[in-house]
Amino acid sequence: MTSASPLPTRRTMYRALSRRDAAYEGVFYTCVKTTGIFCRPTCKAKRPKPENVDFAPTVTEALHAGFRPCRMCRPMDAGKPVPSLVEKLRRAAEDAADGRVTDKDLIAMGVEPTTARRQFKSYHGMTFHAYQRARRMGLALRDVKSGKPVIEVQLDRGYESTSGFREAFARVFGAPPRGAKDAACLLARRIETPLGTMLALADDQGLRLLEFVDRRGLERELVMLRRRLKCVIVPGNHALLDETARQLSEYFAGSRPVFDVKLAPVGSDFQQRVWNELRRIPSGRTRSYAEMAKRLGIPQGPRAVGRANGSNMLALVIPCHRVINADGSLNGYAGGLWRKQRLIEHEQKHAK
Ligand SMILES: [Zn+2]
Repeated sequence: MTSASPLPTRRTMYRALSRRDAAYEGVFYTCVKTTGIFCRPTCKAKRPKPENVDFAPTVTEALHAGFRPCRMCRPMDAGKPVPSLVEKLRRAAEDAADGRVTDKDLIAMGVEPTTARRQFKSYHGMTFHAYQRARRMGLALRDVKSGKPVIEVQLDRGYESTSGFREAFARVFGAPPRGAKDAACLLARRIETPLGTMLALADDQGLRLLEFVDRRGLERELVMLRRRLKCVIVPGNHALLDETARQLSEYFAGSRPVFDVKLAPVGSDFQQRVWNELRRIPSGRTRSYAEMAKRLGIPQGPRAVGRANGSNMLALVIPCHRVINADGSLNGYAGGLWRKQRLIEHEQKHAK
C-alpha cells in the first residue's frame, strides 16, 4: 500500500505491533490477511505472523484494501464510547448479504434512519453511504492488483471461500468472473496513488475508466460501461493498464505533465467534444466553465459543459479538475474537493 503519508518500515511496524507500542497509535493500522480484519498496533488479539500482515496508513485505506474494523480494538473509534446506533449500523453493513443497508432495513431493526446516519457521520467523519461503498469496493478489489486471474488468486489464499470473494466482486462489478473467458472483457486493475486507490479499466480499444475508488457514483458508471460495451469486468492485466500505472507514478512524481496513454472514453458526441477540449487545458492552468463553453461555441451552455465535465470517467488523464468557477473558487469534484485542490496545486508546482 502506498500513500501520501509515508509509513515506517515493515520491520519497525511489525516490532511495534509485537510490543503493542502505543506510540504508534494512529501511525499505522495492521491488516491481517488471514482474518480480513484491521487493528490498532496495540490490539490485544493474538499476534499475527509477519507474512500475514499488511499495513495501512489510514482507516480509509484499510477499508479500501478490503479489511473490516476489529471488534476488539475498534480502530475506527477514537477513544470516545461508540454510540450504540453507530455500532448497529456497522454490524448491519457487515451482515447485509448484498452489501447495502437500506432505510427499510434500518427501520426493520428499529433504527430511525436519519438520526442513525447523522450520528454515524458525526462519529466517523464519513457518511454511512461512504463507509458501505468503501467496504464493498475494498472487498471486491481486494485481490485486483496483481493482474492474476481470479481463480489463481483464490487458490493462493486459503482464508476465504471462493463464493464469498465472487459475491463481493459481483456486487460491485456486476457479473461473476466465472466463465467470463468467452465474453468481451474489460480488464480491471487497482492502482495506488498518493491521493488514494484508483480503479482502471481497459480493453484493446483504450483506457475506458480511471477513477478514485471512493468516487461518488462509481458503481453507476460501472453499470453504464457494462451495458454500453456489452462486456463483463474481470480482474486482469493489460499493457494499457501497466502503461497507465507507469504514467500515473510519473505524474505524481512531477515528471509527467501530459498523459498520452491511449484513451477510449464512452459517451455522447457532445461529451466527447467537451472531453477533448478538457485535454487542451495545459497542466498547471485552469479554465472557467464559461470559457470552456465559449471555446466550444456554446456560450449559453456552461451548465451543459459542467454536466459533461462531471460525467468524465477518466480522472486525471482527462483533466476535468482543471475547470473552476469564474471567480477562481473550486466547485464539485466527484473525487472530492480536497483532491481537486491537491491536483491543481501539484500541477502548478510542477508546471514549466
Ligand atoms: Zn484488533
